Amino acid sequence: MFQKNTVTELQELLSKPKKIVVTSHKNPDGDALGSSLAWTKFLTKLGHSVDYISPNDMPDYYHWLPLSKQTIIYEKAKDYAKNLVYGADIVFSLDYNALGRMDEFGDVVKASKANKVMIDHHLYPEEYPILTYSDTSKSSTGEMIYEMIYAMGEEDKIDSDIATLLYTAILTDTGSFAFSCTTQRVHEIVGVLVSKGADPDAVQNYVYNCFTENRLRFFGYCLVNKMKLIPNTKIAYIGVSEKELEEFGIKDGETEGLANYPLKIADIHACAFFREKDKQIRISFRSKADFDVNVIAREHFNGGGHKNASGGMSRDTLENTILKFENLFISNS
Ligand code: 5GP
Ligand code: MN
Repeated sequence: MFQKNTVTELQELLSKPKKIVVTSHKNPDGDALGSSLAWTKFLTKLGHSVDYISPNDMPDYYHWLPLSKQTIIYEKAKDYAKNLVYGADIVFSLDYNALGRMDEFGDVVKASKANKVMIDHHLYPEEYPILTYSDTSKSSTGEMIYEMIYAMGEEDKIDSDIATLLYTAILTDTGSFAFSCTTQRVHEIVGVLVSKGADPDAVQNYVYNCFTENRLRFFGYCLVNKMKLIPNTKIAYIGVSEKELEEFGIKDGETEGLANYPLKIADIHACAFFREKDKQIRISFRSKADFDVNVIAREHFNGGGHKNASGGMSRDTLENTILKFENLFISNS
């Protein structure tokens, strides 16, 4: 839960109409998009002038999201986005804990004189905001946005768009209500969102059953040909080169979900998914129960995240990055 002051201080900040920019991390996922678009619509309903700026574009399979067409993409409209940020009274940081998670756009936010407010559930939040609502026990930023709207006494402003957006945020960040962060409260909130117009069947189909044929065949290819189990450990990984991604026509964001698959094996407790892009390797780490992959991401791969789901990167080759990962377990076992 937040400290009482967080709500009153935020209400104070929002007591007069303001120019507001909402931001979320690069390569936005369901939680980043759902929470940011919901918060954007909610603040607009309170009478503010609000723009949502994402550092880069969203995957095609999120274009159905309510209000998604209003998203301003920094990479495509840098000057326009900069003007909005430099002219804003308040900039919200949603679903990220460090400005570096927005790449170059993070520098723009850093340079702006706006009051910064963070609402986020990742470990170790940076201290640049004047107001921070950080809670690592929360399933998603979407859940936190709901709690904030509820604490402000503004639940009646949740219309079917906001309900659908928050439902999507919570659905995706809880792995369809499966991860340990799926508390009783999460189910209560989701119940309210359904009563306000979120359609579970429709959202599920949009998010999970709208693959292109190539994307599904690529998942199959990775599981058959690319998944490796490190001998004598409970660790697995999948590594794919840029060439393989191109061969299957896989776009940014279309690998989403693949990182979780090796955990379906009973004996696998942690796994990694390596993908090469522009001479860099992006890495997704996933784990079960008490296995902490955030430590691995933070200490060895310039990243971070949560205990059971983290991310990182490497500027070495795909082969060397995988070797470094394997050695962490071989030398420790
Ligand atoms: P994903 O593997 O889905 O990209 O990310 C899993 C989790 O790790 C998310 O909560 C995400 O915010 C976090 N994460 C991913 N990449 C990075 C990174 O480079 N740095 C940090 N600090 N967190 C990351
Ligand atoms: Mn999140």
